Amino acid sequence: MLITADGLVIRSFPAGDNGIMLHILTPDRGRISVIAKGVHSKGKTAGQLASVTQLFTYANYELYRKGDMYWLRGGSIINAFYNLSMDIGKMSLATYLCSVADELSDEGEEAEQLLRMLLNSLYSLDRGQKSHRIIKGVFELRAAAMSGYAPNLMGCDICGEGYPESSYLDVMNGRLICADCQTKLNRAQNPFVHKDIPTNSEDGARNIITPISSSVLAAMRYALTASDEKIFSFNLKSTEEEILFARAAETYILNQLERSFDALDFYHSVEMQG
Ligand SMILES: [Zn+2]
Repeated sequence: MLITADGLVIRSFPAGDNGIMLHILTPDRGRISVIAKGVHSKGKTAGQLASVTQLFTYANYELYRKGDMYWLRGGSIINAFYNLSMDIGKMSLATYLCSVADELSDEGEEAEQLLRMLLNSLYSLDRGQKSHRIIKGVFELRAAAMSGYAPNLMGCDICGEGYPESSYLDVMNGRLICADCQTKLNRAQNPFVHKDIPTNSEDGARNIITPISSSVLAAMRYALTASDEKIFSFNLKSTEEEILFARAAETYILNQLERSFDALDFYHSVEMQG
């Protein structure tokens, strides 16, 4: 059966001689596995096929479906996000975002929201007008929420304070705890230790908490509730605040997904050098 579908290449790896396997994220069919044969051959047709099989390519695909498998017949590019491959920092971050989408999507489960979020993020990264940390953090928070794991940031989960000056994201429990309540918790758990808890601490084996300021909290609330067209329309006033925002979002999604990502480790190694 021949079908056409718009989709974004979120993963690509070799399959047999002269072929590649693609994971393409589509709005209606979710993540589909597509085999592309002969892409490394010479000739015009092979060249056309190769151009629509690159990672981050958003295209209208012509596919032949047989059972659970799709075979690439052709396609026309809608957006290729060329700038992403020109910059190693952007490329590693885009690869990570695609890996998260790959993890969260499945064959046959519609993925319109996730695809739109990913395209918005790649578009913003490609244009280079927004901080990497903000794009990454917004994507992570929204992706967690789409999977049904939105953190509850309404107010401190213990005392109810809605606008704490400083607070912590309790990552495992998806809740907010104001600094005062966290101090009381620490004292109750460790009556002989009265010093402040360090950044990103793990108390015992269960709780992972990450510090957030009042403006980082506002940014996280915005990221979770803004409409699609406005998700990146905010700024944080300093690099330190961007780092807190990015760290909270990353720690949160990695814990919800219970896994790590090679592309994320690579992004951090590149970020350190930059
Ligand atoms: Zn509190």
